[in-house]
Amino acid sequence: MSIDELGRHARHPFFGVREDCLTVDGRSLLEIAVQAGRTPFYVYVRRYMTDRVKELRSLLPDDVRLHYAVKANPMPAVVNHMAQLVDGLDVASSREMQVALDTGMVAANISIAGPGKTNDELAQAAAAGITINIESEREIRVLGEIGRRSGRPPRVAVRVNPEFELKTSGMKMGGGPKQFGIDSERVPDILQEIRRLPLEFRGFHIFSGSQNLRVDALIEAQCRSAELAARLAQHAPAPVRMINLGGGFGIPYFPGDQPLDITPIGANLRSLIPEIRSHMPDAELILELGRYLVGESGLYVCRVIDRKISRGHTFLVTDGGLHQHLAASGNFGQVVRKNYPVLIGNHVREAQRETASVVGPLCTPLDVLADRMELSVAHEGDLVVVLQSGAYGLTASPIEFLGHPAPVELVV
Ligand SMILES: *Cc1c(COP(=O)(O)O)cnc(C)c1O
Repeated sequence: MSIDELGRHARHPFFGVREDCLTVDGRSLLEIAVQAGRTPFYVYVRRYMTDRVKELRSLLPDDVRLHYAVKANPMPAVVNHMAQLVDGLDVASSREMQVALDTGMVAANISIAGPGKTNDELAQAAAAGITINIESEREIRVLGEIGRRSGRPPRVAVRVNPEFELKTSGMKMGGGPKQFGIDSERVPDILQEIRRLPLEFRGFHIFSGSQNLRVDALIEAQCRSAELAARLAQHAPAPVRMINLGGGFGIPYFPGDQPLDITPIGANLRSLIPEIRSHMPDAELILELGRYLVGESGLYVCRVIDRKISRGHTFLVTDGGLHQHLAASGNFGQVVRKNYPVLIGNHVREAQRETASVVGPLCTPLDVLADRMELSVAHEGDLVVVLQSGAYGLTASPIEFLGHPAPVELVV
């Protein structure tokens, strides 16, 4: 990666260069590597997350509530920090629920979503008093039974599978047949069912995609989600208290990706609020974001173990790879493999550059962190850094594959 690209990916002041070494929030990467104790490691920058949320809030209407989607980065220290910054936490399993509750966030501001919630998970969530995003008729039946037995109606919201989808989204999670949520045309009947059961109805959750960098597509999805919520509200068994509009805000990973301009998105939300209020005066508007809040705060750092030339091509073999960072290897949802931003952390601007591939230690040709990339010339012991690694990194990776030790995670 060239220094210009570093500048583009590291717009924030938390990554810089001093004496040709990457700095992380003002500290030398070499010093952080000593603190980590060994490579590979993930490092997440607390101050980055703080400023990111502050900046985002300044561009969104005051009454939009911000939730953090824990699955993006469930490291407890990260979730604890995020819990101080946001209005709520969204989880996708009972383990994530426990991490969220451990932060001290009030249960009412925690919600759980995901298909295939087991009866035990539903019972745990109901007992904790968090909001359960209902995704099937079975979940309604089970929660109704829990409400009857406990005498305490579980808090529920209906996760809607909308008839539209977020365009050019990396991963589509709404529109057409989906395992997520309840088809929007079925929702009026479902709301009647909820009315008959001991359930506390809270509102709607409409999530239509992820990793989107297109302002027009995000605006369109938000408009259509607000319309859909207003239409469904007419059938609601109780006043709508919350509308979760999902998120889908992307971050730039690849050459040509432009960072998302939040200003027009904030303006659009501002213009939607009077209409939403006229149909649902008690509803709070929630955005639930994972990647956008933490993705750029994190680095993955591994060490060059070997430098090999094979038929004229240079391979930097590192102690890190797809088992610890599946997304950077291109095997987590990418259709065409593209290089994440990668650089040599202790020789960022080295005048001598070459085209090299960075590969991991696994016995599979899929284990590639950078394919034929221009990098500073690197040798045994040098540090390879993968930027944009704060979300869907370690916990989205098959860390047991080949049995190498797990990486260190630290927050600075
Ligand atoms: C994964 C997920 C998110 C977070 O998506 P990002 O792309 O990380 O912002 C939010 N809500 C739900 C329901 C999800 O499943």
